[in-house]
Amino acid sequence: MSITSNEKFRSLSAAEFFYRNKEIAGFSNPVRAVYQTVRELVENALDATDSHGILPVIKVVIESDVIPERPDVYLISVEDNGIGIPPDNIPQAFAQLLYSSKYTIRQTRGMFGLGAKVAVLYGQLTTGKPVEVVSSTINSSRIYLFRLSIDVKENKPVVLHRTSFKKESGWHGTMVKLFIEGDWNRAKPKVYEYLKRTAIIAPYASIIFKDPSNNVVYFERSTTLMPRPPREVKPHPQGVDIESLKMLVQLTSTKSLKDFLIEEFQGIGESTSTTIINMVKIDSNRDPKSLSNEEIELLAKTLKEYNGFKPPRGDHLSYLGEEIIKAGLKSVLKPEFVAAKTRRPSVYEGHSFIVEAGVAYGGAIPLSEEPILLRFANKIPLLYDESSDVTWKIVEPKSGSIKWDAYEVKWPAPLVILVHICSTKVPYKGVGKESIADVPEIEKEIENCVRDAARELKAYIIKKRKEVEEAEKAIEIIKYIPDIANSLAVITEEASYDLLSDSLMNLVLKKFKNIKIKGVKDVVLNIE
Ligand code: ADP
Ligand code: MG
Repeated sequence: MSITSNEKFRSLSAAEFFYRNKEIAGFSNPVRAVYQTVRELVENALDATDSHGILPVIKVVIESDVIPERPDVYLISVEDNGIGIPPDNIPQAFAQLLYSSKYTIRQTRGMFGLGAKVAVLYGQLTTGKPVEVVSSTINSSRIYLFRLSIDVKENKPVVLHRTSFKKESGWHGTMVKLFIEGDWNRAKPKVYEYLKRTAIIAPYASIIFKDPSNNVVYFERSTTLMPRPPREVKPHPQGVDIESLKMLVQLTSTKSLKDFLIEEFQGIGESTSTTIINMVKIDSNRDPKSLSNEEIELLAKTLKEYNGFKPPRGDHLSYLGEEIIKAGLKSVLKPEFVAAKTRRPSVYEGHSFIVEAGVAYGGAIPLSEEPILLRFANKIPLLYDESSDVTWKIVEPKSGSIKWDAYEVKWPAPLVILVHICSTKVPYKGVGKESIADVPEIEKEIENCVRDAARELKAYIIKKRKEVEEAEKAIEIIKYIPDIANSLAVITEEASYDLLSDSLMNLVLKKFKNIKIKGVKDVVLNIE
């Protein structure tokens, strides 16, 4: 018997690949699809505003009953007041996978050039409807409207409709509308949580959300402070692998290996480039494009191993800062106490990163047996996979590395912990971008940062406990005021009983007016 092969070979377009593997981009089921669509569009909206110094105003609307006999289809629209998209780029930006303005070394929320397109693709394949995009850039005198679909086989945009209007107002920004099959009822808690956390991390944004039952929530801007926009940087030599080195070689306009090293990387000057060239033993005048694969591999290995580089720059990262974190925690969670800390830049595998942490305590925060953890990476809330995130290992009360007793926190406690990691390369655990991997350098920074903020909490808890103890003592003493006032009034024959008792009571009330402990108010009222 002869075995004949009738295997048929062909390649898959990027669009076809992501349709078959939707879960990679977070579209694994109708619940995730609603959440992920909102998330991708909101993140693009925020990148188009705060990364360019614009205070964001973002409107999110989810409508149901938009197609007859399809109760499972929703229309999701997100509008921003961002920089807009030039009309010639709109079709590809929304209907060609792996097309992005963010393929640079710059801290943005996007990065894979997938987000909006996978939502468009998912919408198209589950509802047959195109995406509608309305956009105008800041200096444009026109507003453009497109209806687009994706040619899945070719991974190319299909422009179904294009028109433009004269712009009468100064509006600029983008509005995206798309139909998707979804499950709003089950997605609802996640979508609300996502928007709440977005409002915490971006208190300088106004966010309005209307859900399919016409409920409207408005997260009002609570500060006009904004994080410094991220800046683009050259790659650090220790952060490049063979593939990115090949890419740099393809793109460079330098003509010699020496210039290539000096121009295309951060932290390489004349003398370091000479050292590297001596180590790899390649002629410094060689055209970088003439390097063989073996030479590129050798160069990548040498760059990784050489220890003499300055550490990567952290000054291009866009962190929030302590004031913005505190403003966000205060305005959304209404706690009685907040603290926040921002660490200095650190480095892992050639990538710089900054960790920030905040704690919010008491007030409207409910009691729970473990901290409520709010995780963020590059200002994106991470909602899924909490227990596999490196941060959970640190703050978890039973076996985490932080012992909360040492910070005077007793469970159940009304405690929220916020952790934000900013980096040009966040080490996510999966492609779904929902949890941070156990990178030792990052773990150490997170732990130190949470401890920094927790120390302030500890001081507050101790101070508060002391005040409560004093108030309790005062209640004990208050009981004797009538007797003492009476006796003193009799002995001195001058001050009346009322005068003495009022002034003593006022003293106590003034000192403890902000302390709410069980019994205090009652006792005071009884005496009055
Ligand atoms: P990514 O965000 O990873 O780049 P997306 O598919 O989400 O990928 O977006 C593709 C590109 O479209 C973005 O890089 C950006 O240039 C542009 N874009 C998308 N949404 C907006 C928006 N609301 N405002 C301005 N530009 C946008
Ligand atoms: Mg995006």
